[in-house]
Amino acid sequence: MAYRFCLECGEQLEARKVDERCLQACPKCRFVHYNNPRPCVGVLVVRYGKVLLVQRAVEPFKGHWDIPGGFLNSNEHPAEAARREMLEETGLAVVPTEVLGFYMDVYGEEEFHTLNICYLARPTDGEARAGSDAVRLRWFPLDDLPEKIAFNWEREALELLRRRLND
Ligand SMILES: [Zn+2]
Repeated sequence: MAYRFCLECGEQLEARKVDERCLQACPKCRFVHYNNPRPCVGVLVVRYGKVLLVQRAVEPFKGHWDIPGGFLNSNEHPAEAARREMLEETGLAVVPTEVLGFYMDVYGEEEFHTLNICYLARPTDGEARAGSDAVRLRWFPLDDLPEKIAFNWEREALELLRRRLND
């Protein structure tokens, strides 16, 4: 994601070579737009061989199926974000049990990169019901996942989970 103006002083940003990378930097103050990937969590809950996915109510990928999750809040541990997002999106209270993996991806129209931390989690309480960012929820057999999966990294994570459960 490119910015036009400095977030510190409002000056117009310019391209600058920093550590062999071309970054946007401010000519007036020390601000450099490093454009780091944004951390996100995804949470996989499996019940009777089926995984819980949510259908997205918002762009990007509106109408596509998504692993429940989202962006980390400021100063929030990923495991806490996993618990919060699951409750918000699915109504399930969960305990993250394991990190399945880390996945890089892009968000929207190449807007920015994301670092997706994918947890496996065990539900402890609640009935699965769709929250604000989701149209509906559905439990999918891992061998019969929907065609329209929202993000590329999710296909990878779901494939890894499928292979694990089949072993
Ligand atoms: Zn500046």
